[in-house]
Amino acid sequence: MGLLSQGSPLSWEETKRHADHVRRHGILQFLHIYHAVKDRHKDVLKWGDEVEYMLVSFDHENKKVQLVLSGEELLETLQEKGERTNPNHPTLWRPEYGSYMIEGTPGQPYGGTMSEFNTVEDNMRKRRKEATSLLGENQALCTVTSFPSSSICRRLGCPGFTLPEYKPSPVEGGASKSLFFPDEAINKHPRFSTLTRNIRHRRGEKVVINVPIFKDKNTPSPFIEIFPEDDEAAKASKPDHIYMDAMGFGMGNCCLQVTFQACSISEARYLYDQLATICPIVMALSAASPFYRGYVSDIDCRWGVISASVDDRTREERGLEPLKNNSYRISKSRYDSIDSYLSECGEKYNDIDLTKDKEIYEQLLQEGIDHLLAQHVAHLFIRDPLTLFEEKIHLDDANESDHFENIQSTNWQTMRFKPPPPNSDIGWRVEFRPMEVQLTDFENSAYVVFVVLLTRVILSYKLDFLIPLSKVDENMKEAQKRDAVLQRMFYFRKDICKGGNAVVDGCGKATGSTEQTAEEYALMSIDTIINGKEGVFPGLIPILNCYLENMEVDVDTRCSILNYLKLIKKRASGELMTVARWMREFIANHPDYKQDSVITDEMNYSLLLKCNQIANELCECPELLGPAFRKVKYSGSKIDVSN
Ligand code: GLU
Ligand code: MG
Repeated sequence: MGLLSQGSPLSWEETKRHADHVRRHGILQFLHIYHAVKDRHKDVLKWGDEVEYMLVSFDHENKKVQLVLSGEELLETLQEKGERTNPNHPTLWRPEYGSYMIEGTPGQPYGGTMSEFNTVEDNMRKRRKEATSLLGENQALCTVTSFPSSSICRRLGCPGFTLPEYKPSPVEGGASKSLFFPDEAINKHPRFSTLTRNIRHRRGEKVVINVPIFKDKNTPSPFIEIFPEDDEAAKASKPDHIYMDAMGFGMGNCCLQVTFQACSISEARYLYDQLATICPIVMALSAASPFYRGYVSDIDCRWGVISASVDDRTREERGLEPLKNNSYRISKSRYDSIDSYLSECGEKYNDIDLTKDKEIYEQLLQEGIDHLLAQHVAHLFIRDPLTLFEEKIHLDDANESDHFENIQSTNWQTMRFKPPPPNSDIGWRVEFRPMEVQLTDFENSAYVVFVVLLTRVILSYKLDFLIPLSKVDENMKEAQKRDAVLQRMFYFRKDICKGGNAVVDGCGKATGSTEQTAEEYALMSIDTIINGKEGVFPGLIPILNCYLENMEVDVDTRCSILNYLKLIKKRASGELMTVARWMREFIANHPDYKQDSVITDEMNYSLLLKCNQIANELCECPELLGPAFRKVKYSGSKIDVSN
């Protein structure tokens, strides 16, 4: 989760004093990079995925599952045995926000050949096996997006959802001051608690997360929680919502990301824009997080929860008070969807008001940077640095980029445009960030391969998905709602072939009306967008299939890819469930469930146990995965999950 510096973290007051310094030098660092590599081209496609994991421990006797706070030690061992011993080790491990989390990536990026698609799942399996082999008894590595938590978290100040157990300490001096989430569950690297504390101090109050509750038959209406001993909570919590008050409820969630190296800066800008329109669609398709703080919610995706969990804007910036001490009104949290397209063809669709640092914008223009890139960077740089290490204030701007990365890596947007690090052989990259992590390596591979293939098709067929960015934002809101994949409609471009590309027409489906109607886009279901609809839209999967037919691919790889695409296709049509839908049904059918939106310890335990069995291929789950999709290669779990 971004830049990790070592050293002594500064308080918010001290960091704030250096904010202009960080921004000024961050821009100089960016300029050095830009001028050095702006003309780089002919970089080859390389790409990689990131999977975030949670460590859990099953207490079979008491039917309880807890998050194990041992991510730091596990990481140390994995790195020691892996990358530090062998630079060609097939996996790489990094810390994540929660002390119960860990992030794994392939040891080397994947390359541009088709056969690489056949190695992703093996590598993910290696990661799962490698980390699992180091766990204690009854522990497991889970790829669940959000930990449903349990009754423990509903009762204030009770220890319980972590192992070891800690009581939250909602007192001044703590990092999050949360009523529910103990600071011990935050990764011990000082970056993470400092981020937590400084976000809260900058904002001037605790973060506020209100997630609509799912109203079941016996859910109290209105649903109201009372927090008599906490003024902030009493004021901030909303009726009919699940209230949360800590960064950990958001950044403690897991996701699946993909990063691509483009051949040049302009290809990176083109992909950044095109993929931005795909973010809400793929997010809804990957929906996997319906439960929060022990309740069933009315949302399926983590996005808005994380967004609120790191919202460091002051009341002035949020428009609740007149501007006095701050410079701007800011319409979004630092974790949110992108605010401007970067490619020339995107310019006319930039219809969101963009707040930017005017001085930085002018400076970038003077340095020869074009308007679109200049405004993108000047927009990122309206934010303050959230962490700063005393030892890292004065840097060599020509050869370091920490100040640039400081601001860049705390703008957690749906897409990230990544300039190469100074003096490296890495090219211009873009990161695709909206996906929720899936239970199995098969599903995670399917989503990753789908997105990477889509980039190949976008580039080969010169596809154009652009619609006004405000419409993409509307899609983001819809995408998070319960069952969005089947129930909601999304704005999507009708004619995606620039100049009516014949290759795509050849796929046998209509590409939509060729006459230019008033609107270039229409509301479509995800099924239409993904699978196509005669006379309306060709569908992304048919286009991918068409591309595959024209590519040389070995039989085994083709078979894997087709299996992956089948999963995506069936999730979009509703033939298979999303993880969120499957989890909802699991809880709804649990014998203890009282149709009151409450998830008890035992329900949480059975759910996670089942998730772990599915992930380790100890049981089938046709509703989620289909009948014959799995390639049975590995079944490794440290624990006896059968009891
Ligand atoms: N865990 C965060 C998410 O679910 C992402 C953190 C990161 O940027 O690595 O989106
Ligand atoms: Mg991460």
